[in-house]
Amino acid sequence: MQTGKIGVTSENLFPIIKKFLYSDHDIFLREIVSNAVDATQKLKTLASKGEYTGDISNAKVEVKLDIKAKTITISDNGIGMTAEEIEKYINQIAFSGANDFLEKYKDDANAIIGHFGLGFYSSFMVSEKVEIITKSHKEGAKAVKWSCKGDPEFTLDEIEKEEVGTDIVMYISEEEKGFLEDSKITEILGKYCRFLPIPVIYGKKKEWKEDKQVDTQEDNQVNETEPAWTKKPSDLKDEDYKDFYQKLYPMVDEPLFNIHLNVDYPFNLTGILYFPKIKNNIEVQKNKIQLYSNQVFVTDSVEGIVPEFLTLLHGVLDSPDIPLNVSRSYLQSDSNVKKISSHINKKVADRLNQIFKDNREDFEKKWDDLKIFIEYGMLTEEKFNDRAMNFLLFKNSEGKYFTFEEYEKLIKENQTDKDKNLIYLYTTNTEEQYTFVESAKDKGYDVLVMDDTLASHLINKFEQKYSDKKFVRVDSDVVEKLIKKEDSGGEELTWEQKEELSPVFQAVCPEDKEFTFIVDFQDLSENGAPMVITRAEFMRRMKDMSQMQGGMNFYGDMPESLNLVVNVAHPLVKKVMDSKDKKLGTQLEKLGIELSAKKVEVADLEKVKEGKKEEEIPQADKEKLDDVNKELSKLEETKRNKLSDFGKKNKLAKQMVDLALLANGMLKGADLDKFVKRSVELIK
Ligand code: ADP
Repeated sequence: MQTGKIGVTSENLFPIIKKFLYSDHDIFLREIVSNAVDATQKLKTLASKGEYTGDISNAKVEVKLDIKAKTITISDNGIGMTAEEIEKYINQIAFSGANDFLEKYKDDANAIIGHFGLGFYSSFMVSEKVEIITKSHKEGAKAVKWSCKGDPEFTLDEIEKEEVGTDIVMYISEEEKGFLEDSKITEILGKYCRFLPIPVIYGKKKEWKEDKQVDTQEDNQVNETEPAWTKKPSDLKDEDYKDFYQKLYPMVDEPLFNIHLNVDYPFNLTGILYFPKIKNNIEVQKNKIQLYSNQVFVTDSVEGIVPEFLTLLHGVLDSPDIPLNVSRSYLQSDSNVKKISSHINKKVADRLNQIFKDNREDFEKKWDDLKIFIEYGMLTEEKFNDRAMNFLLFKNSEGKYFTFEEYEKLIKENQTDKDKNLIYLYTTNTEEQYTFVESAKDKGYDVLVMDDTLASHLINKFEQKYSDKKFVRVDSDVVEKLIKKEDSGGEELTWEQKEELSPVFQAVCPEDKEFTFIVDFQDLSENGAPMVITRAEFMRRMKDMSQMQGGMNFYGDMPESLNLVVNVAHPLVKKVMDSKDKKLGTQLEKLGIELSAKKVEVADLEKVKEGKKEEEIPQADKEKLDDVNKELSKLEETKRNKLSDFGKKNKLAKQMVDLALLANGMLKGADLDKFVKRSVELIK
């Protein structure tokens, strides 16, 4: 029997392993099983070159759980190790600068393990003793048993073992006895070993017999050795891709498209990415891509490896060239990772472009589901943005699709304003903004539907990029003003007329905490609607954006102001104006005279003050001015109140405001009820 000390510079290796790797103990099984798979593959390679002549047809890795003995054993029939090799690969752990490294990466278990080839030693995270029972494939090699109790001391004995290969026996420690459970082992194997390239056997397949699960004769293989991504794209049919997707994400809707990646220069990368059908919340959908290294599952958080927007994709990436076991910050600066990331970026854009070109009809059909990726990509990746301009689609209110270029051609003639800006009209909700969409269409304009969460950001991006393109929501102004073709003519009210009419219509606007109404007067022609409610584009966008960002916010907290545009050319509005004149005419005239007189008085008093310093003005004059000003305000108030009272009682005015509200989907509850009743009354 040989005894010795494991060659590490730090005596404290084991406590350190246990302490720092605490968070992620599951991976010991991945490490030991993938070592066994490696050893088996190596022997297969030797056999294929004729350097090994033994039988390898039944090569497999076996995982055995012995609850009584409290052991987990991983057996392989791979290349095995000689005593010298154990000395070299197991005892002499390359461990330069161990303490520095551990200090640096103490929160990142993967980093420590991968960096120093500590894979095998991860078994000590869960074991109080580990044995290696191994026989090398080499001619005449003696079988040996290495045993170590989690301190740097070990023993090495010659033993009898018939078959070539290795058993790793882990004596699970008391505090880790959770691993001595069938379900736990099944879970870990399912996560990490599902697509390993050599059959991994865990127990026997079970069947139900007399209300009990019993073992059958058949081995329970936990993995699929040739998953779809390892095959040639030409050998796979559409169905195969869909089947594989189902395997990865059971119960999820069919994907829209897939992209099979297969690169071997300048780096190695295979994988299949899928465009899933995304429901509304993007955040929840992220991080569904699984990252593998030679078919060993590593992680499903791929930030930093694929461009941010592609974390929305689903599927599998497999690359031995991604330094999988190092920390995230290191990953992001790794040149291989950067190359891989930009490659995937390009590949995805190329594939989308190809699908678009090959089958535009199908592409259009899937567009509504697809656009979230493309818009997200355009917003976050400049390079993707440039490529995507070829296949980005706009959908109009009639459900027709256009590329950016096509759409520009379509609207150029009709929707260029007097300043040579191209105006893109859009709606965010075809139902709610129906009236506006229709009146824009009646005027010969085309209206885009931009109803998803990212649309407002995309609009901002376009406007920044192209200074002569403007996006205007259909309800941001009356249709005559959406695209300003020339300076407006038409009927204009004088300032005095507006001042008189404003309180009349203000009085019939609903009182709402969320909205304030500003009354405006315009000539929208006799045939236009009598009143229209519009929402200023700027304010609305600010509010939309602040809502998306969440939290307290300046714009978010401000009541939104809506414009009540009164069409002064409309006969019904004229009717209200006439009836106001009839009813209040003489009173207003009288008030008007009084008001003018007061105004003259104020002006005279102001004149006396002119050129004088504050202290030179006699106190009496000051008081006089104050009084007259107060009287003036009072007169103005009386006038306003009269107009306001008139408005409140005017059913026609109320009816017209309600109609405008109704067109915006803003008339609800009790107000709607009153409207209906008033309508009946007016018709009677
Ligand atoms: P790594 O796998 O990163 O090289 P490990 O600590 O996991 O580091 O293993 C060290 C070495 O021990 C391996 O490179 C391999 O040569 C040898 N080894 C480990 N497990 C086995 C096994 N089951 N069969 C044969 N050799 C093995």
